[in-house]
Amino acid sequence: MIGTDPFCPESGAPLSRDRHYDETGRGKRAVTTTDRSAAAGTAGELTNGAVRSARTALLTYFERCHRRHADADEELYRRAAVALRRLKSGASGRQEWDVHVWFALKHRLASTSHGVEWMNDHATLRCPECAGRLRYRRTPGCVVATCGVNCDGADGDALAAIRETVASLYATAFDDDPPDTGEILQF
Ligand SMILES: [Zn+2]
Repeated sequence: MIGTDPFCPESGAPLSRDRHYDETGRGKRAVTTTDRSAAAGTAGELTNGAVRSARTALLTYFERCHRRHADADEELYRRAAVALRRLKSGASGRQEWDVHVWFALKHRLASTSHGVEWMNDHATLRCPECAGRLRYRRTPGCVVATCGVNCDGADGDALAAIRETVASLYATAFDDDPPDTGEILQF
């Protein structure tokens, strides 16, 4: 994941708070040492997270974020693991981006008795074309987001494109339509 929630894309381990700057002035963070990052051999590597992460890294991140909101829930983690396996094996192209997998996972788990609203706090939506930051505008009754650097030259509706990507990923992974594509992203 990139943005405000970066983690090691291979192990899911958190990154250091401190940034390390290279000769060009670009800051990166170090992968902290956990059982998983030690096993993956990524402890201490410098990164800012990745647009696509490994399935097990996403699951580790999911569990860590959940435990910030509630007690550990092994049944939820098992369901998430099964859903992530299907999402990651069914995804292609931009469907594979962590943020799209994350919101498809949220919708899959929303059909269970587990609360999943907390998931909104742990993924930052990015431009579906260039993965850059989005620029938000509030209009009466809705929110419009466009690419911060207008990468498509047309100020396209980023949220509509993200909804479409998440819905198509969900449909591919679970051979089913998501509950209501309009509800996939809520503000
Ligand atoms: Zn863009």
